[in-house]
Amino acid sequence: MFKKSEKLYKKGLKNLVGAVNSPVRAFSSVGGNPLFIKKAKGTKITDVDGNEYVDLVLSYGPMILGHRHKKVQKGVDKALKNGYSFGASTEAEIKLAKIVCDAFPGMDKVRFVNSGTEAVLSAVRLARAFTGKDKIIKFSGCYHGHQDSLLVAAGSGLATLSMPGSKGVPEGAVKNTLIAEYNNLESVKAHFEKHDDIAGVIIEPICGNMGVAIPQNGFLVELKKYLESKNALLIADEVMTGFRSKFGGAQELLGVIADITCLGKVIGGGFPVGAYGAREEIMQEVAPLGGMYQAGTLSGNPIAMAGGIATLTELKKQNPYKKFEETGSILEVILLETAKKYNVDLVVNRFGSMLNPFFTNIEVTNFEKAQTSDTGKFAVFFWEMIKNGVFLPPSQFEAWFLSSALNDKDIKKIAEAVDKAMLAVSKI
Ligand SMILES: *Cc1c(COP(=O)(O)O)cnc(C)c1O
Repeated sequence: MFKKSEKLYKKGLKNLVGAVNSPVRAFSSVGGNPLFIKKAKGTKITDVDGNEYVDLVLSYGPMILGHRHKKVQKGVDKALKNGYSFGASTEAEIKLAKIVCDAFPGMDKVRFVNSGTEAVLSAVRLARAFTGKDKIIKFSGCYHGHQDSLLVAAGSGLATLSMPGSKGVPEGAVKNTLIAEYNNLESVKAHFEKHDDIAGVIIEPICGNMGVAIPQNGFLVELKKYLESKNALLIADEVMTGFRSKFGGAQELLGVIADITCLGKVIGGGFPVGAYGAREEIMQEVAPLGGMYQAGTLSGNPIAMAGGIATLTELKKQNPYKKFEETGSILEVILLETAKKYNVDLVVNRFGSMLNPFFTNIEVTNFEKAQTSDTGKFAVFFWEMIKNGVFLPPSQFEAWFLSSALNDKDIKKIAEAVDKAMLAVSKI
């Protein structure tokens, strides 16, 4: 079934590290070797052996319309004809900036970069520039890209590889990073009681990088209120949730407007785009208006902008968020009922079109609780899903994503695969 993938994997090992360009793509925690993909269209992805899967990875979120939506293809094809990169401003950047700022009430201005990592590292620099303070609080289990200062207690990729942090990060780089517990405001307050130089708190408003975890009992609202009283900024890392939770992000849904917002993933529709933005007074700090330097040779790349504009324009038109809620809850019920049928302990966390099962019997509200999940069971589940035509992220701690293209036939196929996979899990 995976002959050509196996062959490419062996070939890839020679000049690529582990034959992958991002460790989450290696199948470290589920065993076996990574699949090599040939193409994708709509809800389906096809590997080099010709196996076709319903895709619930969706490039870890960006492909919210499904693969190769005709409007996106058209927009990008058109842009390609005019050239690939100019190192100068284009109208497309203004168009995408307007779409983004209109969608996020907390963003008057935005700066485009090339990835979520870049967006976050710039946002943190900006928070420090604006407040004149150095320390940043992050929550364990939240992932904010691979920049040195936030690569501690950082969720899925590291959890999958059982790594506490990363080698090569000097102590000095994390000395201004403080760790708090998700859904625990007291753990944030404890830091403020000890330190008077905290610039802000960075958070995934809906966390997707310890698996899905959802803020409980107005946690975000309380957090924002508290930060205001301390003159510290709330940085919402909406790289995953931006344009996925609603058109705009999770913040408004949850009753909070962050001081600085980070975007990525969906905003480029599969092309490398990240962004950070804030209200006028904060963005005034960014060069060339202010003294915070941040730059990029390919930032605002015209092809990537065209991908983003076409994706967001179509997304706004489709307005699939009600459908996401319906489809998501159908999948949630399928998972839970099948687990019950086979007597498997299972908890499903879901927010709109992001969801994932945990093989545990306790409610998962933070990283520590996520870690009670039985990853051995997940590995069996994962491979059975693959064999039955459903492509999932190869990690217990990654969210599954839905696209607006997902149809009843796909859901039927997922349900059949879940039945076989849950049966297999019940036998171990
Ligand atoms: C994916 C992700 C990032 C990093 O984005 P990259 O484009 O992979 O650099 C940062 N924060 C969150 C919440 C993410 O999900």
